[in-house]
Amino acid sequence: MKKALSLLVFVSFFAFCDQPVPLVIIGSGPAGLSAALYGARAKVKTLVITGSEPGGQLMGSGEVENWPGIQRKSGAEIMDGLFEQTESLGVEFLYDSIESVDFSQTPFMLKTLESGSIKAQAVIIATGSHPRKLHIPGESLYWGSGVSSCAVCDCFLYEGKKVAIVGGGDSAVEEALHLMPYAKKITIFVRKPHMRAAACMQDKLLLYPDKVEVVYTTEVQEVLGDGTVVTGLRVKNNRTQQESVFPVDGLFLAIGHLPCTELFKKHLDLASDQYICLTQRTQSTQIPGIFVAGDVADNRFRQAGVAAGTGIQAALEALEFLR
Ligand code: NDP
Repeated sequence: MKKALSLLVFVSFFAFCDQPVPLVIIGSGPAGLSAALYGARAKVKTLVITGSEPGGQLMGSGEVENWPGIQRKSGAEIMDGLFEQTESLGVEFLYDSIESVDFSQTPFMLKTLESGSIKAQAVIIATGSHPRKLHIPGESLYWGSGVSSCAVCDCFLYEGKKVAIVGGGDSAVEEALHLMPYAKKITIFVRKPHMRAAACMQDKLLLYPDKVEVVYTTEVQEVLGDGTVVTGLRVKNNRTQQESVFPVDGLFLAIGHLPCTELFKKHLDLASDQYICLTQRTQSTQIPGIFVAGDVADNRFRQAGVAAGTGIQAALEALEFLR
């Protein structure tokens, strides 16, 4: 990422010229950059609009063990490699976000927050998703000062403290593993009688029997505090309906994600859960020339490797369209 960030000084000339860019990719996670790789290798001018978090969600993954061909690397290292690889092939980066799109005409029009408008012949949407919130009292008040969705970012704040995690998926386990060297005690609240996390992920928790506890059929109802710091949670057992106060110093949310599709809802068909609908077995949308890659259309797998694969597929479809 260091190298990629040095490109901040570069503002793509495409952003200011009237010529349409053949291939514009919105988003710079594994999906966006894998698509860019294929665009550039086909010698098609490819511009990536990075969004406000270059590298996307994987940047927050401390240890990734399921990226094919790599035994273990941090998410940031993987994304560094992808930025370097795409940059070396001539992909251009614009460190900006898209404010609005007009897909009703060709070339398509993309308005950026800071760099004016861009015309595009083909667009790949790879905007990913963002963490879901509980929407309970106290969550907003203590957001960033006791409530977080990123253990890798905030774990050092919890040295010797008691923390809770909400969620029963792989993210909940991953959050616990990040917190392990710091927190004194970690309690994972799972609303069902079982976790959804992969068995091999759950096994990792068994290595720390004194430190981690999983509490099932329990929902967090309120974040409690003194107005400045979190002091506890009001929790409810959804079987017995019994409520209690559970003292903690911090709460981490690991309850899934919402797709970043707000910009596109007027133009593209969205499913009831707001993910973009694809034409069957393709990465195409109902608009020729608009393609989709990664988590923004994937409510099922949500894996970096899958995102990269769909990025490649979207790029191949876009190249076919451009031809
Ligand atoms: P998931 O959707 O897999 O899991 C979300 C969890 O949060 C579920 O246990 C769900 O419960 C729970 N939940 C949702 N809403 C609430 C709520 N309001 N209150 C309480 N609990 C709630 O999301 P993840 O982020 O864990 O994972 C997303 C994808 O990323 C998955 O495919 C996962 O495999 C992958 N991943 C892989 C990793 C790795 O391999 N290293 C690391 C992290 C993620 P319920 O089951 O009841 O719906």
